[in-house]
Amino acid sequence: MRVNITLACTECRNRNYALTKNKRKHPDRMELRKYCPRCNAHTVHRETK
Ligand SMILES: [Zn+2]
Repeated sequence: MRVNITLACTECRNRNYALTKNKRKHPDRMELRKYCPRCNAHTVHRETK
């Protein structure tokens, strides 16, 4: 039930995080606020394919 996803910064498009998510809990694209080293700030990260 858990799938591997990648989170990319919506500001600079840098892919910063790889994780698994629960597909039942989050059937659509996830968005999380996480630290981006390239922006040097917390930004919204969105799930990519
Ligand atoms: Zn960024």
